[in-house]
Amino acid sequence: IASLTPAGGVAAGKEIYLDARASTERRVEDLLRRMTLEEKIGQMAQIRVGKLRGDCNNANGPLVESCLKAVLSDAHVGSILSGGGDAPVENTPRAWAEMNNAIQRYALEHNRLKIPIIYGSDGVHGHNNVISATMFPHQIGLGATWNPGLQERIGVSASKALRATGVFWNFAPVSDIARDTRWGRYYETYGEDPFLSGELAAANVRGQQTRVEDTAQLAATAKHFAGYSAPGNGHDRAAAQIPVRQLQDVVLPSFQAQFDAGVKTVMINSGSLNGVPVHASKYMLQTQLRDRMGFKGVAVSDWQDMRYLVDRHKVAPDYKTAIAMSVNAGVDMAMEPSNAAEFTSLLLANVRDGSVSRGRIDQAVRRVLKLKFDLGLFEKPYADPAKADGNVVNADRGLARQAAAESAVLLKNDGVLPLSGAARKIVVTGETADDVRRQLGGWTVEWQGVPENSPLPPTATVLTGVREAAPGASVVHAPTPAAAVAESAGADAVVVVLGEKPGAEGPADTETPALTAAQQAWVDAVQATGKPVVVVLLTARPQVLGAAEDANALVAGWLPGSEGGRALADVLFGAVNPSGKLPVSWPKALGDPTLTYDQLPGANTAADAKYDPLYAFGHGLSYTSFATSGTTVSVDRRAGVVKFTAANTGGRAGTAIVPVYVRQPASPVLTPDLRLVGFTRVELAAGQSKQVEVPFELSRLALTVGDVDGGGRREVARGAYEAVVGAEKAAFTVR
Ligand code: BGC
Repeated sequence: IASLTPAGGVAAGKEIYLDARASTERRVEDLLRRMTLEEKIGQMAQIRVGKLRGDCNNANGPLVESCLKAVLSDAHVGSILSGGGDAPVENTPRAWAEMNNAIQRYALEHNRLKIPIIYGSDGVHGHNNVISATMFPHQIGLGATWNPGLQERIGVSASKALRATGVFWNFAPVSDIARDTRWGRYYETYGEDPFLSGELAAANVRGQQTRVEDTAQLAATAKHFAGYSAPGNGHDRAAAQIPVRQLQDVVLPSFQAQFDAGVKTVMINSGSLNGVPVHASKYMLQTQLRDRMGFKGVAVSDWQDMRYLVDRHKVAPDYKTAIAMSVNAGVDMAMEPSNAAEFTSLLLANVRDGSVSRGRIDQAVRRVLKLKFDLGLFEKPYADPAKADGNVVNADRGLARQAAAESAVLLKNDGVLPLSGAARKIVVTGETADDVRRQLGGWTVEWQGVPENSPLPPTATVLTGVREAAPGASVVHAPTPAAAVAESAGADAVVVVLGEKPGAEGPADTETPALTAAQQAWVDAVQATGKPVVVVLLTARPQVLGAAEDANALVAGWLPGSEGGRALADVLFGAVNPSGKLPVSWPKALGDPTLTYDQLPGANTAADAKYDPLYAFGHGLSYTSFATSGTTVSVDRRAGVVKFTAANTGGRAGTAIVPVYVRQPASPVLTPDLRLVGFTRVELAAGQSKQVEVPFELSRLALTVGDVDGGGRREVARGAYEAVVGAEKAAFTVR
């Protein structure tokens, strides 16, 4: 029986928790029983790295000993983050690794139990806070690839870069379902479909959390749990009202897909759901997250969100109460609770006066310690600075180019594309033609995108890409509409690249998700010259196009990352045959009521019920043509398989992405006409056809039925269904 130390913990003895051969469970329990209450509470805080620098208050500059002491030693804080940027003074991979190692070294040398810290950051499209890192397309573009295998490889690449700099926790992927193009974080989602989003998010998690030997493993984050993407008025973090059916059948499945893939952490939605801030919602954090969905890992708050229960949501009278509400609801770790000493002392006071139980503290700390043991941080707490640059600088640029090319969606083409490599003169114009900041979007170097005073990440813009792809042509950059019109004389084509200001969260919200009048006029002016006009859209959301709809060709390139310009040139000149398909619906007009394809039936007139966007979910052209035929379906008790023939009926090799939908002629509750249950990618040479099989689990057909006030039940209704592939359907029965 161990004796108590003066600090209240258990005296050193045989330290099972330091033995890498012991099971994680034994290590956690051994360590936990040695910890004082103060030490435990410290593990529940995650502090911004700026608090360790300068004046210990969100500063830049080198680490400062007294700040390290206050946070890591006095307050026993167990996690540090770079929120939305927060780079070291010199923003190189090596400097990141050295900074993180210095923090880790201080922590290990100044806590008696030698518990490593875990460092987190937002690598949402590569290790994007590092200037020289490869920026992959943002998630909306990866949604358009319908390629989980590719997403998994990107996850592996991002993870390698993050780990090489000592970041072992990545706040990605975003698992929210796109609902409203006004919302500033629309581009951070994989689109509007729960199944597509879940497949890609799970692949991302598998890639990021790949087991490795050289460093500790990395933890991914499913964020933001849940209901964040549907703020009622389109503004970031505004109140969301989501009925139970919508929550369970549309919002939660992509999270479940990641839980099934083993994602180690979730981040909580900053907003409120049905009148309750999610950070204080036992229903969301216990009933849904733990009891129904079976998540076992760490639930971290979003930025300062415990405090916001007082300041913004106004459901707690003071910060101490807010902390108790949030911890009791199920948040295990507070991200940037602004002041480490204040947070830890208030949580301590909550435990002392019984507002938070010791059992709840132990439960949260167990999860945090388990995470650290499972990742291998006790054995491998450091990065190797000598290897950091090599693992990060311009890593996997080829993969980034492939991803950007696969994410491009050919929305419209009257035959002007692909451009001929023999073109003599090409005019490249539009305000985003050669603008690295706009092309890379938000969460690049900093959360609002590359700051004006920062060096630019090495990036191929569309101008660069077109120049490289057409070395024999005169490629002229026309920075204004007037210059574009003047230069169009003698040109074979005019490429107009339009985009939007980079941003994230509130600053990126817009009331008018539409091309500006000036952008439309730009397209109009070049269109009036009679030259073929190709519009490339590097936007964070489907913008209402207005006059730009009349261009000869339209390509959605999203926010395509470092290699975006080359990838788009690959598509424009036909080196890559476009295969991307819209992961969202493209609205016709502002206020378009049918923004997503999962509309429920029952409207009064056929016109009201019509899902009639400019371009539908799943739309995307190719330079060849495809057809599917001979669709059959067979099901057993748990799964089905849809079989069909996919043919390339045109004159060029290409990749067909074929969605498989299910329709339920009669359903116990209102159900969208089509629900995506599977998809496949088929590479086909000109004239080739292949037999294809797409398996699907019947559980994908589940719907929330029954007494929804009591939470309802998710179940698969028995009866008649149809599998829908292209123009064909095949009936099947669930017994
Ligand atoms: C965002 C999160 C992000 C966090 C840390 C918050 O404002 O909502 O998505 O992970 O900041 O940067």
